[in-house]
Amino acid sequence: MSNKNNKLTTASGRPYVENEDSLSVGKRGPLLVEDYILHEKMAHFNRERIPERVVHAKGSGAYGTFTVTHDITKYTRAKIFSKVGKKTDMIARFSTVGGEKGSADTERDPRGFALKFYTEDGNWDMVGNNTPIFFVKDPKKFSDFIHTQKRDPYTNMKSPTMMWDFWSLRPESLHQVTILMSDRGTPYGVRHMNGYGSHTFSLINKDNERFYVKFHFKTAQGIKNFTDKEAAEMRGIDPDFSQRDLLENIEKGNYPKWNLRIQVMPEAEAVGYHINPFDLTKVWPHGDYPLIDVGLMELNRNPENYFAEIEQLATSPAHIVDGIGYSPDKMLQGRLLSYPDAHRYRLGANYEQIPVNRCPFMKESNNYQRDGFMRVDGNQGRKPNYFPNSFDDIEVDESYKQLPPTIVDAEADWFDRNAPGEDDHYTQPGNLFRIMDDQAQKNLISNIVGAMSGIDGPKKDEIINRQLCHWFRADPTLGAGVANGLGVKVDESMFAR
Ligand code: NDP
Repeated sequence: MSNKNNKLTTASGRPYVENEDSLSVGKRGPLLVEDYILHEKMAHFNRERIPERVVHAKGSGAYGTFTVTHDITKYTRAKIFSKVGKKTDMIARFSTVGGEKGSADTERDPRGFALKFYTEDGNWDMVGNNTPIFFVKDPKKFSDFIHTQKRDPYTNMKSPTMMWDFWSLRPESLHQVTILMSDRGTPYGVRHMNGYGSHTFSLINKDNERFYVKFHFKTAQGIKNFTDKEAAEMRGIDPDFSQRDLLENIEKGNYPKWNLRIQVMPEAEAVGYHINPFDLTKVWPHGDYPLIDVGLMELNRNPENYFAEIEQLATSPAHIVDGIGYSPDKMLQGRLLSYPDAHRYRLGANYEQIPVNRCPFMKESNNYQRDGFMRVDGNQGRKPNYFPNSFDDIEVDESYKQLPPTIVDAEADWFDRNAPGEDDHYTQPGNLFRIMDDQAQKNLISNIVGAMSGIDGPKKDEIINRQLCHWFRADPTLGAGVANGLGVKVDESMFAR
């Protein structure tokens, strides 16, 4: 008998030998039900897949370090930013949005940019995209929008008609559609793209003052994109381009880096600012709120096991820490609810116990949550499961109270998010077009024309005309370029500025 520790065993630890042939009646006979190992292998295999994420299913990730390079303690007391030079371990996951888990990495799509920072006050997650904005500004529109990016209920194929129908009917999407159709819609892997927290968050300092904040992670590798044609070719050559690029560069020691910069708006300025600072379809122009340097994020370690560490990674914008807070951004408010809910569905109520999701500074859970599927941390042993009680030593630390309070003094109603004053869907997409150089403008127009050429069916002309109006309203040159490309004759004098 061997004394090896790495014996082949069943999941329950019983060493066994019969890993090749099934137990059969006679050499060529049928199999016996009592071959438990056969059943265990097949039954476990049948359960290897967990539900894939309904969005952001295809992704890659790596571990790294965040280092503070500049002092921002006048804005926040968050421990992660407590002093220059401080390092915090973290993990990142990048993804496409609409495609399934096996889809190609170079699809034209926004890219998820999800980060988990393991801080001593708990995990801080920043779950953004490679764009500073989004297609919709109210979470009630999220599932409608995402359905247009998925498969048509009848054809079971992606449908440009669905996409442009929705976008043309809800022009709040125009800004994000402009970025999506630009060359940044097909980034050259994840190393060469920026990441944005996208939402407005709060920073809270030691004097309990609130500052609204936008987080920008600017690639130190420089922006690099595929052209539409290159991206289409790469989908066939290497559908896992992005996964390979990230993995291999980290293996070679060529660690990708991003500079964290923030835009900061004192709380009092939010009221009178000419743009709704909580509207996820708008940026804060840099001229109004310049970027402030904060630190450097470096990815320097590949996960050992993709499923354990990346597929089971569960990030949520709800996971904030002392010194960082939410904002009234309606999309953020919706995501505070939906992200943990998605994790509970996909990974179970105890998803925070999975090692990659667990705060390494937390020795054991100190709360009154108990039981549920896959409770693997001892379930807090014999400690009381109710509060208050006369037995345990868990204390509420008042110094962590989130202040200042959010002031809300208004009627509750289903307010029109695009009411007058909130309905300028055109200035910022137009500004973006106007800062692009000639080649970038040409590529944008050609990408839009290519994508809109897929619109089909009885409503084709109606959808095209409606969307063309939006492009013209953003910028007449942009509108004219798209109309020409699509072969649509328009009276351009109608749109002269
Ligand atoms: P600025 O000239 O100060 O900033 C322009 C920004 O646009 C830069 O951050 C640049 O990113 C980014 N950019 C350039 N090309 C693209 C593209 N194809 N897709 C996405 N972003 C791009 O001007 P403003 O701050 O006044 O903003 C003008 C427009 O730029 C906005 O309407 C918005 O569309 C876009 N933008 C603004 C951002 C902001 O936070 N203010 C952030 C990103 C985009 P980089 O420096 O990395 O090249």
